[in-house]
Amino acid sequence: MATDTTAVAKVDGSALAGRALAAAGARHMFGVVGIPVTSLASRAAAAGVRFLAFRNEQSAGYAAAAYGYLTGAPGLLLTVSGPGCVHGLAGLSHATANAWPLLMVSGSCSQPDAGRGDFQELDQIAATKPFVKLAVKATTIADIPRLVFQALASTVSGRPGGCYLDIPADVLHQTLAESEAVALIEAAAAAADSAKSDPSPPKHKSLEDGIEKAAELLRRAERPLVVVGKGAAYARAEDAIRKLVDTTGIPFLPTPMGKGVVPDTHPLSATAARSLAIGQCDVALVVGARLNWLLHFGEPPKWSKDVKFILVDVCEEEIELRKPHLGLVGDAKRVVELVNKEIKDQPFCLAPSHPWVEAITKKAKDNVLKMEAQLVKDVVPFNFLTPMRIIRDAILAEGSPSPVLVSEGANTMDVGRAVLVQNEPRTRLDAGTWGTMGVGLGFCVAAAVAEPDRLVVAVEGDSGFGFSAMEVETLVRYQLPVVVIVFNNNGVYGGDRRSPDEITGPYKDDPAPTSFVPAAAYHKMMEAFGGKGYLVETPDELKSALSESFRARKPAVINVIIDPYAGAESGRMQHKN
Ligand code: ADP
Repeated sequence: MATDTTAVAKVDGSALAGRALAAAGARHMFGVVGIPVTSLASRAAAAGVRFLAFRNEQSAGYAAAAYGYLTGAPGLLLTVSGPGCVHGLAGLSHATANAWPLLMVSGSCSQPDAGRGDFQELDQIAATKPFVKLAVKATTIADIPRLVFQALASTVSGRPGGCYLDIPADVLHQTLAESEAVALIEAAAAAADSAKSDPSPPKHKSLEDGIEKAAELLRRAERPLVVVGKGAAYARAEDAIRKLVDTTGIPFLPTPMGKGVVPDTHPLSATAARSLAIGQCDVALVVGARLNWLLHFGEPPKWSKDVKFILVDVCEEEIELRKPHLGLVGDAKRVVELVNKEIKDQPFCLAPSHPWVEAITKKAKDNVLKMEAQLVKDVVPFNFLTPMRIIRDAILAEGSPSPVLVSEGANTMDVGRAVLVQNEPRTRLDAGTWGTMGVGLGFCVAAAVAEPDRLVVAVEGDSGFGFSAMEVETLVRYQLPVVVIVFNNNGVYGGDRRSPDEITGPYKDDPAPTSFVPAAAYHKMMEAFGGKGYLVETPDELKSALSESFRARKPAVINVIIDPYAGAESGRMQHKN
């Protein structure tokens, strides 16, 4: 066959988007394909962006969110138009709520047909806007590279969060010459580079001043405390915070996902003396954590009314909102390094015998001993504590690099937070700022691809697991080293806890809104796809399932039967239900 030497290679919008994402540094993308983005997924993969195909955009979105947190690079979510975009909003909003970088790329209906009831038509810019820092639409193919670079950069600038890029079907199908594609990508990359190196005037000339004041406040404090949030973990501030704690002897308290920034086993951990630590500290250096519901808004009665907060946050609005005694706007790692430097010039260190340190360590020790006395018992049928202890020990036995723990559920997550131990940063992923249920298996996929050296262990309530359970097929398809442990207590919070006056009316014989099919065979869902399933009811069965599945590093579900009346309604949040 004769070759047409005059033909010019053409690049369509899908290929251009895939290549632009790769050129901007993307390595993984999570999503669900369909009209009009199927080709975008394969083109991106061909360009070097691994595409992880999910069964539901919601889980894919949670995966992209967690990937952004774990890697510090934007997680990428690809969705189809209309309903796919709507499903993707779960992950997009979750990322923004947790201050994690995520770029959602969605196909949308053809522009000429918009407003006429086209297939899966939706004003996706309007739909995504409430949840993002930036929502942009490529109206022609030539827009794609510039907007890809711009939107990716926006996810990680300032406070990280979600951004949205809309690419209509007609734009995905437009073509341009190969040479033009190369030029557009190069120009977009160059523009992004120059934006990065643009020395924008330092907004906070008072930072130096603030650092001095912070060091002085900590030095003069009688009962200082360092609070470590997931913003510090995201900033990779672990070495700086560890150094601060070690050189000053100040006790530290991690938030749930701040666990591991400094090892939970560190002698200055105030986790087991939380109420005392926050109730009595006089100066609290809060690094990368909001004074929101998780920290009781920084107010009495949980905190002392005289506590002086020093807030370190990359987001100026956050500091304006909380009005702390002292605000330090900047990257957590950099700010804590500066504080360390300042302290080095005039060092101080609270000895273990310092009354505040002694009070915290004594209280923590007492509480740990009380908890251990409960944990050591082998209670069968299982309560929450016995299996949690066995899981804790199995995870600890893995050593370093320690597994990434994914956790959700009411009682399961609460008990897990108290019992499971994090000794390395960014090894705990849970329901987060929003208390989002359904994050589980998406988080597992993200952790497995973002942290390939680590095993991933999910400890899930049966309700939490149910939101994303179909993604066990995704685990098997990609053969990911993920062990999902389901605490199966037959429902949300466990057994039927309705009062008699709630069980009346025409539907009184229906199952309780909190009840699921008893003793559901969740392990068989995994077996249905060729993964390994275990049903366990005793300590020995659980130990053997954990040891076999951890060794195999293959997808597994361990269905742990729990006494349905062992937990509390709403976990520890009854007051909000
Ligand atoms: P937690 O749930 O652990 O309490 P939050 O999500 O409430 O943590 O708070 C995290 C905070 O960290 C957010 O206010 C966010 O702006 C901030 N943050 C994000 N990245 C950085 C960074 N690099 N340096 C400092 N703060 C950061």
